[in-house]
Parts: sequence; C-alpha cells; structure tokens
Amino acid sequence: MKNYDTICIQGGYEPKDTEPRTLPIVQSTTFVFDKPEDMAELFDLTRSGSFYSRIGNPTLDALEKKIVALDGGVGALATSSGMSATLMAVLNVCSAGDHIVSTSTVYGGTYNLFAVTLPKLGIFCTFVDPNAPSEEIEKAINDDTKLIFGETVANPANVVLDFDKFATISKKYGIMFMVDNTLATPVLCAPIDFGADVVVYSSTKYLEGHAGTIGGLVVDAGKFDFTGNERYPEFNEPDESYHGLVYSKDCGNLAYIIKLRVQLMRDMGMIMSPFTAYLTHLGMETLSLRMKKHGDNAKEIATVLGKSPLVEWIFYPTQEGSSEFERSQKYLNGNTGVIAFGVKGGRENAVKFIENLKLIKQVTHIADIRSCALHPASTTHRQLSEESLKNAGIPSNMIRLSVGCENVSDLLADIEQALVKM
Ligand SMILES: *Cc1c(COP(=O)(O)O)cnc(C)c1O
Repeated sequence: MKNYDTICIQGGYEPKDTEPRTLPIVQSTTFVFDKPEDMAELFDLTRSGSFYSRIGNPTLDALEKKIVALDGGVGALATSSGMSATLMAVLNVCSAGDHIVSTSTVYGGTYNLFAVTLPKLGIFCTFVDPNAPSEEIEKAINDDTKLIFGETVANPANVVLDFDKFATISKKYGIMFMVDNTLATPVLCAPIDFGADVVVYSSTKYLEGHAGTIGGLVVDAGKFDFTGNERYPEFNEPDESYHGLVYSKDCGNLAYIIKLRVQLMRDMGMIMSPFTAYLTHLGMETLSLRMKKHGDNAKEIATVLGKSPLVEWIFYPTQEGSSEFERSQKYLNGNTGVIAFGVKGGRENAVKFIENLKLIKQVTHIADIRSCALHPASTTHRQLSEESLKNAGIPSNMIRLSVGCENVSDLLADIEQALVKM
C-alpha cells in the first residue's frame, strides 16, 4: 500500500533550491517567452510549461501532480467544479450518437447530466442497478457505448461499487471504465488498482475539505489502449484542430489526458482558478489525517445510532451487518464519513431532528471538516412525491449526516439531544 500520509503532505509541489516552501499562487493569465521558437515548442508538445492559464498554470500543475501521485495515474487535469470534471471526462470520449452505461445510484447532478442534459447533445445513457448481475449490465451495452460509469461510494445512497464486476465487463468489451471517487478519496480507495481507466473528483468535498471552494479533477490511469479500438475513432484519426495529431499514436499512454487538455480544455475553458488550486492543494496536505478522523467519528456515531430506540434504520457501508460491508472491506482502506439513517416518527420527526441540532448545521453539502446534516425529502428532493422518494431510495424520514472532525463526544451529545427532543 502507498504511503498516503507522506504523499498528501509532500507530494505535488516539490520546491527546489531557494524556491518558496509552500505552493505559490501564480496569479497570471499568461507567461513570457523570449523567442517564438521557445513558445512553439509548447504548442508542439515537445516542451512542458505554461503559456496561457486556460491550458495550464504552475499552481494547478502542482495540484494535478499531487492527485496523480495519490491515485497512481499518469496525468490529471484540474477543472472549475466536480460537474465540469465529469462533463469534460465524458465529452473526451463521447460525441453525438454515443452512449454511456451508468449505475443508477450516481450523485444527483451527475444523474441529471446523463439523463437530461447530455441527451440534448445526442449522448444517451442507460442506467443500471449497481448490484444487477453482469449479464443484465452487458445487455445495456451497444456498439456506440463509450463509457461505463460508477461511483466508489454513491452519494447519498452509500452503495459501494463492485469494481471487479464493472472492470471485467469493461475489459471484455474494450470500453473505458470511469469512476467518481469523491466520497472515498484516494486515501480510502485506489480505483485505478481495481481497474478504473479514468477517475473523477469533486475536489469541493473531502479533498479541499473545508467547504471553501468548488473544484474538480480528472485523473488518467494511462492504461486504456485506444490503438486500433474502433469504438474510439477520435483517438485514432488526425485531429485537424491540432495540426493532425493522432492521440493514440503520438501521445502513447498519455493520449486521454493530453487530448482532454489541449483539445477540450482549450475549446471549453472550464479551468480551475489558481487560488482554488492553492486551497485544494493545502487542504489535501491533511487529507489522510482528516479521513481517519471522519471515519473514526462516523463509525462511533453509526454504532450509537444503530442501538438508539429513536432510530428506525441506518445505512452505513463500513458497519458490520450492512449490505455493503463485504465490498467495503474489499475495496476501502477505512471507514467512510457519511451516514444515512431514518428516525422513528416519519417525515415530521426528521424535520424536528434537523431543527433541534445545534453544533451540526443544516447545509446542502457533505464531506467537509464541520459536521452537517440534511433532510433530503424536504430540501434537495422536495419536488418528489412520497412514492417517487421511495423509488429513489430516499425514505421521507431519511437524514444524511456528514460527520466532521470535531470531538466525537460533542457530536454525540448534539445528536442525542436532537433525537430526544423530537
Ligand atoms: C458534489 C459532487 C459532485 C459535483 O461536484 P461539484 O464540485 O459540486 O460540481 C460530483 N460527484 C459527487 C459524488 C459529488 O458528491
């Protein structure tokens, strides 16, 4: 296993003689070159460096190197949000007429992107039950399928992805396997080790970790071989917008990530700001410390909730007895930080519970250092009927609790008084 503590703290920015100890924020749109030939080398991809911050910037570069070191990929790209990371990662292999197979339990924003917005661009998605047998998932694949997509730990359903099943199907059909690793982070799961070709993140969550800034990351494992694969003509034919570059031939195992940067980021411009990259890189220095504390606290709280006479049900993947427990032991290196549970007394008591909380605040966010809670049925999913809530796996008494790094006794005291006062 990798030494995550050290990579989190020292990976990415590695200063040389006389350079600043901490990562500088390079707040400049553009960079100076003495001779046209020098700049031309960057356009020809024969020299690395920055010339314009939409394509690359030294602060972003350090953050990209840190996530690559943690995930074990070959390259990464920092984007303006988690949603833009997923959108760009998909558009890098899909155009009009293409098709995606995705698990149905993906994050709500991703679900809408795949179900509503991408179809307007001619890209269609078939959603599959993450726990369906392989034969059923394979039935969803067709000649235009370019991607199989899933989430390591689904937000908010808390389902742990069956990596072996999805990776085996992807290999069998020569289709890219893309994983959203936001809720697990590289500290809890290394999707590339379990067969993922591309990993995407909302760095807004645990990576930056302090609810300070929105951002995203795309990581390329460098393992997918596009050469001669007829599903991916864009990688095997000359890119006329980049003086005839053939990505699979000219970029080797960096084909995916180079195309993402020099073609899609150039044209779409959903780049992260240097200040966000600085905050995210800084936040990631304590990622492994925080994940341990989030997990320890959540596990303890889940155990107490599991025994409470005021709690009807609890869904926490790394708890013994959970339907996800076996997979969580196989794929996760520790306890997760988000708990879903249902209070007794239905919707009414769920609302009261949220109102009674003092230390734990109600926010539409998860995975930052401060504990927070949400009642999905009356907020994020309030447009759904009682019936549709059930179908979406969101009972009306469900509370989503994102456990922070505070002292666990203080959190338990807050939860207990909020339950008792319902
Ligand atoms: C929040 C989230 C996203 C979207 O990220 P933004 O940074 O808010 O755009 C995507 N996937 C998962 C699993 C998330 O939790």
